[in-house]
Parts: sequence; C-alpha cells; structure tokens
Amino acid sequence: MKVLVTGGMGYIGSHTCIQMLGAGITPVIFDNLYNSKQAVLQRIEKVTGHRLDFVKGDIRDKALLTKTLKTHAIDAVIHFAGLKAVGESVEKPLEYYDNNVNGTLVLVAAMQEAGVKSLVFSSSATVYGDPASVPITEDFPTSATNPYGRSKLMVEECLTDFHHANPDWSITLLRYFNPVGSHPSGELGEDPQGIPNNLMPFVSQVAVGRRDCLSVFGNDYPTPDGTGVRDYIHVVDLADGHIAALENVGAKMGLHIYNLGTGNGSSVLEMVKAFEAASGKQVPYQVVARRAGDIAECWADPSKAMQELGWKALRSLDDMTTDTWRWQSNNPQGYPDI
Ligand code: NAD
Ligand code: UDP
Repeated sequence: MKVLVTGGMGYIGSHTCIQMLGAGITPVIFDNLYNSKQAVLQRIEKVTGHRLDFVKGDIRDKALLTKTLKTHAIDAVIHFAGLKAVGESVEKPLEYYDNNVNGTLVLVAAMQEAGVKSLVFSSSATVYGDPASVPITEDFPTSATNPYGRSKLMVEECLTDFHHANPDWSITLLRYFNPVGSHPSGELGEDPQGIPNNLMPFVSQVAVGRRDCLSVFGNDYPTPDGTGVRDYIHVVDLADGHIAALENVGAKMGLHIYNLGTGNGSSVLEMVKAFEAASGKQVPYQVVARRAGDIAECWADPSKAMQELGWKALRSLDDMTTDTWRWQSNNPQGYPDI
C-alpha cells in the first residue's frame, strides 16, 4: 500500500512514517516545511534504512497534489498538514481557516480528481470543548472555543457532509488526546519553533537548560492536586493508531471516528515529577494564573478503537518521559538546519 502523508515531516507525521515502513506500508511525504526541517527526512531514513519520496509542496496547490497522487499511484492519504497553535489561531484566524479548512477541501478535491477515496484525518480532542464528564466517548457533543479548534470541527463537519454525498469513500477522523514522547532512537522528536505552547516540550527545554522555569497555569482546578489533567499518549502509540486505522477501516466505506488516547489522566505536577525521575534533572516551576480557555480535565475512553481497530496505547508515562529526554538531551537545539 502507498500512502500520501501530508505534513509527514512534522512531529506526528514523521513518527507515523517510521511505523508505516515497519508495517510494510510505503509513505510518500507531502509537506511545505512551514513548521518542520529537511533534516527530518534524513533522520527517518537513518532510523529505518529506507529511502523516502518527499514532495515539497503546499496542500493548497491542487495541481501539484493531483499530480503527486497520480504519479505515485497513491492508495490512501493520511492528512496531518495544518497549523496547530491555539494562541496564534486567535491572532491569525484567517491563516488557520485557509491552511486547515481550505487546505483540506483542496486535498479532497485533488483526491477526487485522482480517484483516491481513502482518507485519515488528524483531528483533536479539542473538538469536545469543555466536556461535561470524563472519560470522553466519541458520541460526546462537540464544540469549539478558538479558531484552531473551530477549524478542526469545521473540517470534521465538511468531511461528514462530503461523505454523505460520496458514501463509497472511507473517511476516518482520529481525535488525538495529548501526544508526547519521541522515537526511542533519540533521533526524532518534537521540535517546536520559538517558545513551546505545550507542556512537555516546555518541561524538557527547562530540563536541558534552554529555559529557566516552567509556568504552571493554575493550581486551583477541581482536580486532585489542583493542576490540569490530560491524557498524554506516546507519539509512537499514536502513530500505530494510524496504521491500525489504515489496515482495519482504510478500505471500508464509511465515516469512522476514533479517540486515540490512553484512558488515563495525569496532572501537570505528575508530569513534571515523571520527567524529573526520567531525566535526573530538576524542573523548577512557579504557579501562575490559569491560561485562558483551558479546561480542568480531559481524558479519553479509547475502547472503540480497541474494539474496532484492535489498537490500544501500550507505552507508559515512563516511556514517554524517558524517550522525550533522550531526544532532548541528544538534540538540545532540536533538528539542525541543513
Ligand atoms: P507539526 O506542525 O509538527 O506538523 C505539521 C506539518 O504540516 C509540518 O511539517 C508543516 O510544515 C506541515 N504543513 C503545515 N501547513 C502546511 C501546508 N499548507 N501544506 C503542506 N504542509 C503543511 O504538527 P503535529 O504536532 O505533527 O500535528 C499534526 C496534525 O495533528 C495537525 O493537523 C495537528 O492539528 C493535529 N494534532 C496535533 C496535536 C498535538 O498536540 N501535536 C494534537 C491534536 C491534533
Ligand atoms: N500547561 C502548563 N504550562 C505550560 C503549558 C501547559 O501548566 O507551559 C498545562 C496546561 O494548562 C494544561 C496542560 O499543561 O493543563 C496541558 O497543556 P498543553 O498545552 O500541553 O495541552 P492542551 O491544553 O492542548 O491539552
């Protein structure tokens, strides 16, 4: 099977390409390198021993996408490409709607033209808004509180309407919880540009000395230690969830929706402790005000993915933090510019 991986040079996409190659699936990467570096390709090749096809392009370029789908005889698409920073999306909403919503519409139109009818889309637990209870199942109501989340919800809705009109397609919406961790080789990991928005990259940059102190956004939530609780999932488990989706429903007509999470919640302070234990480094922190728009707790009920895809997350919090530290300590400044 040959799969076009949009955004395949990014954090989750690169790990997914490695797992695909291990499963005998051939990825063809399509990425404009807006938020990733050329060095990622070399690292994937180093870890897997495979050469990869990489097309540098923008998902809003329909002609290039159509040509790529046809010339590579693509069977299915995994669509990671997009912008993902919540705060930035509030400042630049049009860029988010253009890249994430318009980009996906262009991609689907190119797939139609090329006759490719299998799509796996990177959605997010953010589509559940502030859930009324936890754990969250796929039938919970959806809502959005910022342009990034709204763009994910809009894409889900567009794809649902598209599927009504084109029931012979297979469309899978994967709602990720909180991806963390790195490839166990230490060669690939999360490399945010500028100040990290997410907890784990911030914690690991403090541990490696790039930043002085973590700000913990609030300790007065109704949670056991007062800090926010999330469902952190190892990026390699998340990557394997895509393989399971491709193999189990990628050829089945239908609109399929799955949570990809562990089913366990961990607090900010628990994550800091786990990281300190894995790295042997202290992570100084100060408690500051809550971050606008944050929710108290969010974790998945991942049982549908287990029942229908035979997939569940296998890696522990210790794996997540140990692998993150291996990546961060081997690559304190992230990927090199080449
Ligand atoms: P990332 O930024 O590391 O990777 C995205 C990749 O897409 C980058 O390599 C970037 O260069 C590329 N890209 C962006 N716009 C593009 C465009 N117009 N054309 C071509 N390429 C483009 O992000 P990630 O963490 O790997 O996330 C992948 C997907 O998963 C995104 O859609 C994101 O919204 C979604 N997601 C991520 C998280 C998370 O916490 N990382 C959680 C839920 C959902
Ligand atoms: N968080 C924090 N300090 C940071 C970044 C995040 O305390 O510098 C907290 C945040 O308030 C939330 C948790 O860590 O409770 C996870 O945040 P992240 O941005 O990684 O994921 P999301 O909010 O999207 O679930």
